[in-house]
Amino acid sequence: MRPKLSLPAVADKQRSPRSGAPLRVYVTRLPAPRPPRIAVLGAGGFIGSHLVPRLARIPGATVDAVDITFDKLAPGLPRVNRIQASLTDPGLLDQITARADIVISLTALCNPALYNTRPLEVIDASYTDLVPLVKLCAERQRWLIHLSTCEVYGRRALTVDGRPSRRMDEDRTALFLGPIHRERWTYAAAKQLLERVIWAYGQHHGLRFTVVRPFNVIGPRMDFIPGVDGEGIPRVLAAFMHALLAGEDLVLVGGGRQRRSFLYVDEFVDALLRIVERPERCQGQILNLGNDRNNVSIRALARALVGAFRAQRPDCALPRLRSQSAAQFYGPGYDDSAVRIPAMTKARRLLDWRPRLTLAEMLPPIVADYLLRYESRVAGEPRAHAATPGAP
Ligand code: UDP
Repeated sequence: MRPKLSLPAVADKQRSPRSGAPLRVYVTRLPAPRPPRIAVLGAGGFIGSHLVPRLARIPGATVDAVDITFDKLAPGLPRVNRIQASLTDPGLLDQITARADIVISLTALCNPALYNTRPLEVIDASYTDLVPLVKLCAERQRWLIHLSTCEVYGRRALTVDGRPSRRMDEDRTALFLGPIHRERWTYAAAKQLLERVIWAYGQHHGLRFTVVRPFNVIGPRMDFIPGVDGEGIPRVLAAFMHALLAGEDLVLVGGGRQRRSFLYVDEFVDALLRIVERPERCQGQILNLGNDRNNVSIRALARALVGAFRAQRPDCALPRLRSQSAAQFYGPGYDDSAVRIPAMTKARRLLDWRPRLTLAEMLPPIVADYLLRYESRVAGEPRAHAATPGAP
């Protein structure tokens, strides 16, 4: 829309240097920016439950929070409109994109235990169901902020000509997935293809987009506890918390030497808010959000979590760590990333953002949250024996 001109205004004391006549100054009155209407798809999940309350605090903003369940999202948030629906419901995406200025898409089945056991559902949730959203955002000129994954980088960081590198860089690292029979990469492949679709719509059809690649975001309300509010194997933090609450061994897949960079959810949400505030800088960009300073082995994570748990439950018997092969733990088709370290220069440059929380700082509130929500609901046998911590 063209800005409105208000004509003419004569500025005091300003005169033409040639004729001495008063200067005419045309004052451009830009329309006041309209508070955004933001749609969050997957608002009832782990990230959504942290993000939506923060978005609702943007002055004047309204949030359409869409999900099939809202168990994790705080009730009664002002200017948050809950829409209980599935993305595949007829007309839903049409309705959402008709009125949103910004669409933040969080939906996915992001749990490695599903990639080789329910691969087709993983592909649909990460790709098929979202292609119509990308098209609608392009047609209607909506800004799509899509949460992809660091998993797209694959097994380890490689340069585009195949040489090992240390960090995973948005614009310089190749995407290195395993062979097709290693179904672990189903999710990464689906997420990568959606990124490519988004990119193509951006390049060729004017889609305004930002793709975010989160690196192992952890925090309260993450994942389910098996036997309480879900079945199967959750991601590592919830799997370890379940073991601690149930008095069982913490299982280190393949010995736990694989490394991850952990980022606290509040800092992740800080970065997402900064993206929303910086459309000019962030549109057309792919952006890692992670914390390279918290790059630790899964074994080190287990030890740190045991320490944080025992600080809050000093009377619990000493938890044990036990190694198990990936094939036994996840079944055939599993594969793994050996190490993931995000390149952070782009997020720092575009967002002026640098996460600060260490693992030692982020684990106590997470443990407290799990104790509060699950301690009385996990049917565990008190450990009969004390064992050496950290000895697998
Ligand atoms: N893992 C583990 N024990 C568990 C669950 C997971 O050792 O009880 C390992 C898993 O094999 C992977 C890492 O922990 O190498 C992180 O797993 P997560 O499920 O959190 O997701 P990922 O980072 O692989 O996407």
